[in-house]
Amino acid sequence: MNWSERISPAVRSIPPSGIRRFFDIVAEMKDVVSLGVGEPDFVTPWHIRESCVEGLQRGYTAYTSNYGLLELRQEIAKTICRKYGVTYDPKHEALVTVGVSEALDLAMRAILAPGDEVLVPQPCYVSYPACVTLAGGHPIPVATTVETEFRLTVEQLEQAITPRTKAILLGYPNNPTGAIMPRDELLKIAAFAEDHDLIVISDEIYADLTYEGEHTCFSSLPGMRDRTILLNGFSKAYAMTGWRIGYALANPDFIAAMTKIHQFTMLCAPVTAQVAAIEALRHGECHMNSMVAEYNRRRRLMVEGFQRIGLPCFEPKGAFYIFPSIRETGMTSLEFAEELLKKQKVALVPGDAFGASGEGFVRCSYASSVANLSEALTRIEKFLKGR
Ligand code: PLP
Repeated sequence: MNWSERISPAVRSIPPSGIRRFFDIVAEMKDVVSLGVGEPDFVTPWHIRESCVEGLQRGYTAYTSNYGLLELRQEIAKTICRKYGVTYDPKHEALVTVGVSEALDLAMRAILAPGDEVLVPQPCYVSYPACVTLAGGHPIPVATTVETEFRLTVEQLEQAITPRTKAILLGYPNNPTGAIMPRDELLKIAAFAEDHDLIVISDEIYADLTYEGEHTCFSSLPGMRDRTILLNGFSKAYAMTGWRIGYALANPDFIAAMTKIHQFTMLCAPVTAQVAAIEALRHGECHMNSMVAEYNRRRRLMVEGFQRIGLPCFEPKGAFYIFPSIRETGMTSLEFAEELLKKQKVALVPGDAFGASGEGFVRCSYASSVANLSEALTRIEKFLKGR
C-alpha cells in the first residue's frame, strides 16, 4: 500500500522546508560553526524563569480561558498601547496563542475561503506560504529586491493583485533580510490595502529588534486598526523560543473566528508560559534592551566583516539576520551553502529557501557569540580565497 497517496493534496503540495533538509546534514557533522538557526543564543532572563517556578508553586497547572489569562491579555494591550498608541480591548480583541506560529495558522484559516489569494512579499519566513496553502489559499509571491533594500513597494503589490486577493501578509523587520519598512512607505501600503479592501496580517515578532529608526506598528496607521491582524510574541525579544507563546490582536470578529478554531484544536497556550509572559512584559524590558544592544554590536561586526572579505551585503536594520549576496561567486545559493559547509564547516541557509527572490543570497544569523561569528567570517574568507 502506498500510504503517501492518502495524504491530503494540500500537505503534499507544500515543498519540504529548505532549512530542515540542510540542518539534517549539519546535525551529522562535527566542529560546524552554525549561523543557520533563527534563535536567540541567550537563555530566558532568570526573573522570567523564576516567575514560572513561582506560578507552579501557586498551583498554575490547569487550562486557562481559551483566550488566555486575562491578566496577560491586559498586559499585552497595555504594552501595545504604550509603545504604539493603539488600543485593544483585552477581553474581545486579544488572543494568546502557541507562538506566533499558531497565530499565523489561525489567522489564515479564519479568513481564507478556498482559492483566495494572499500577497506574500518575498524573501520571507518559510512558514508564510505554507500556512496560506494549508488554509486552502494561494500564496502569491511579491518579489522585493536588494536594490530597494528589500522594502515592499505599492508598484510591486499592484503587479500581483487580482480579484481573488484577500489579504497581504507582512513581516517586518524581515526574516531573512533584516529589512524594515519606514512609516511613510507603510502609509502607502495602508492606502493600497484600503483601496483594494484587503486584510493585512502583520507579523511583528522582531519589532523590538529594530536598530535604526523606530518600528511602526501597522495597526497604528490611520484606518488600519480594524483591517489588521497584528501578531507578536515572546520568542525572539525575550529569548523564549521554547516556551511557545505569542498573541494576536485584531477586531472582535477576527479574534472570535480565530478563537473558534483555537478552542477546538489547542484549547489554550501553556499556562506556565502565560505566567512567565506576564513577568516578561512587566519587568523584562531592561534585559531585553541589553540583549538587543548585544545583537546590534554583532550586526555591525557582521556588516564590517562581510565588507572586508568582499561579499556585498545590504545593511540589515532589524531582526538578527544578515543576507549577503553571493551572486559574484557564480554559484547558486544552495551550491554556495553546500560547498561552504563541506569545505569550511560553516552552516548558513541558502537564500532560495525563503522564496525565488532569495536566490543569489545566503542567510546568516548573528544570534550567536562574537567568537562564533568571527570564526565563521575567517572560514568564509578562506573559502572565498580557495576558489
Ligand atoms: N515569524 C517569524 C518572522 C519568524 O522568524 C518566526 C521564527 O523564526 C516565527 C514567526 C515563529 O515564532 P514563534 O516562536 O513565536 O512561533
